[in-house]
Amino acid sequence: MGELRSLAELGGVPTSVLRSAERPLRAERGQKKAKTRADALAEMGITDLLGLLTHYPRRYLDRTTQVPISELREGEEATVLAVVRRVRRQPARRGGKSLVLVDLSDGHGYLSLSFFNQPWRAQQLREGMEVAVSGKVGVFRGRRQMANPVVEVVEGEWQGRVVPIYPQSEKAGISSMEIGDCVAEALRWVGELEDPVPSEALAEHNFAGRDWSMRQVHQPESVGTKNAARRRLGFDELLRLQLVLVMRKRAVERSSVGIAHYVGSDLVERFRDGLPFPLTGAQERAIKQIEADLARAVPMHRLLQGDVGSGKTLVAVWCLLTAVSGGHQGALMAPTEVLAEQHFFSLGKLLSGLSVTDDATLFGQRQVRAELLTNQTTAGERARILSGLAEGSVDMVVGTHALLTESVRFKRLGMVVIDEQHRFGVEQRAALRAKGDGPVPDVLVMTATPIPRTAAMTVYGDLDTTVLDELPPGRTSVETRWARGPLEVEAAWQRVRNEVAKGRQAYVVCPLVEESEKVQAASATEEFARLAAGPLAGLRLGLLHGQLGARDKEEVMSSFRSGREQVLVATTVIEVGVDVPNATVMVIEDPGRFGIAQLHQLRGRVGRGSDRSWCYLLGDAPTPEAAERLNALERTNDGFELAEVDLELRGEGTILGARQAGVNDLKLASLRRHKKYVVLAREVAFGIVDADPTLSRHRALARELREMVDDDDREYLFKN
Ligand code: ADP
Ligand code: MG
Repeated sequence: MGELRSLAELGGVPTSVLRSAERPLRAERGQKKAKTRADALAEMGITDLLGLLTHYPRRYLDRTTQVPISELREGEEATVLAVVRRVRRQPARRGGKSLVLVDLSDGHGYLSLSFFNQPWRAQQLREGMEVAVSGKVGVFRGRRQMANPVVEVVEGEWQGRVVPIYPQSEKAGISSMEIGDCVAEALRWVGELEDPVPSEALAEHNFAGRDWSMRQVHQPESVGTKNAARRRLGFDELLRLQLVLVMRKRAVERSSVGIAHYVGSDLVERFRDGLPFPLTGAQERAIKQIEADLARAVPMHRLLQGDVGSGKTLVAVWCLLTAVSGGHQGALMAPTEVLAEQHFFSLGKLLSGLSVTDDATLFGQRQVRAELLTNQTTAGERARILSGLAEGSVDMVVGTHALLTESVRFKRLGMVVIDEQHRFGVEQRAALRAKGDGPVPDVLVMTATPIPRTAAMTVYGDLDTTVLDELPPGRTSVETRWARGPLEVEAAWQRVRNEVAKGRQAYVVCPLVEESEKVQAASATEEFARLAAGPLAGLRLGLLHGQLGARDKEEVMSSFRSGREQVLVATTVIEVGVDVPNATVMVIEDPGRFGIAQLHQLRGRVGRGSDRSWCYLLGDAPTPEAAERLNALERTNDGFELAEVDLELRGEGTILGARQAGVNDLKLASLRRHKKYVVLAREVAFGIVDADPTLSRHRALARELREMVDDDDREYLFKN
């Protein structure tokens, strides 16, 4: 067999094997020794051939479709390819800026460039050099010109029709074409690249070969070929990512014994009968899907997605009860203390009056016992709860990651619900799963607000997904207004006063203060005083923040729930769980500081009854991005749609978190722009892994994946 080079292998080959990389760059003035191209590449983080070959062009210039200079119109943004004809330097005038003037021509016309305060341009640009310049076209004294354009030096070996332009740091001082030179030599050096993806999959989805693609992405024959190349290489990135996730999912299923829960027990039936409302169709469907998982002896790993108010809590409790009815224990884990407390409160409401069989008691029955375990729990309480969990008398526990500490031991942990909000990672899920001795508990992950499907497939790619795509009947959608000017702000407060006059209630959410809970509480207290003396004078106001003790918090809440307090001024502690259908207005102050998901979650506290409801977003947006968030909230109430906007605005990095294996590998592919390929990659990954779980028959692929994961994972994923 001829030696095919695997891409993974190139990760160890230093760029110094290339002659072209050792070539010195033009020394800058005042610099004694010129650095080499390899030095410059290293400054950009490229030290080996893998890094070099996957340093893909940022864009391409097609020589044949370039607009000639003579056709450029004033005011438009344009890129032109032309040759430097003259470079002049004008020294800085007193107190003024230095100026470098450059004339270009492309055989059809002349373009003048002016560079202010960039004296080094006089060194960089020389007569006869070919450059691509981008900028806004102006006209001065009848001649076309650009001021401070972006310049790429095109001069070099590559004379193809389509010119690749590499992302390059001007700071590293290497030109796009110098990078192209090194890449060209690297491509010669590596010989033929091996293609790790099964050819049937490639053929079925019309993907080009790896070797061809790697060459065309750098040295395209045409725009069409470079597009095909990028499509294939981008798909590879997504496929690697999905393969790791799918292998992890299958490895868990293969290596662990789960619990075959008994579904449809009497306890669960009584729970259903006790509910004041019928389940929504979506809840029925979700429960059916989940119960099928629970009944199997394979551990469940499922993501429950649903919009704010879609009734996820009920589904979670259903799962916990199913476990409890078979003599197991359940755990509900929240990202913060406040959320844990609120879940505990909702749980208490749903469970009230439910009893389980217990032969140790007189009537053979006792209440379902649920406990809250956080860092606020006193030592005595804690000891009591821990021993209850260890001996099995506590059926359910709600808590934060404190549940993960060593001292928490369960007798028979059977079901874990994790309310995530992007804050827990794969490792933490694994840690909790490992809590049970013996069979692995089932895991249901809930997100507070939806996340886009493609992101879910990646962040939660080791999980199956269930979607609650229906709200309980009778909900009204919340009318959201972004109140910017003083008149609109006044209208918001007027709305609060009017609604209160009609017997309705309102929330005011205080500006987000990031420093600490304490500072946040202080600022809320201040805002409370300001409102009481100003816009909301004469109304009965309550104040809720995270620094209040559990008892005080409960007092404020029950006072608001009962209607005694008309307006609740609060920090984000009201984010989840607060459920007062009589509340019809929410005012969110300084909303630009909150993220989309959080605003949507907050807004979900109103519109819970059948009355018309409003949400006012008060104040200016600090950034254009914040303005887009607020506009989106004004425009739609659909959490799934907002999730897409959020992904668009924030970019995938922030959503995925860099720790996820393979995310740093996403250079061409994007979860936003290539949704179709994310789905396809997942399908193909399942196909490959299900036919060959440890990739023993896909050696080339296995070799690439091994490079992406850490030692533990490697051991875990590739061993039978
Ligand atoms: P989520 O956590 O998905 O945002 P919750 O579980 O907090 O939503 O439920 C929101 C509200 O809807 C709660 O008051 C809950 O009691 C109520 N609810 C849940 N399911 C139903 C249903 N099938 N019919 C009517 N109301 C429901
Ligand atoms: Mg909830």
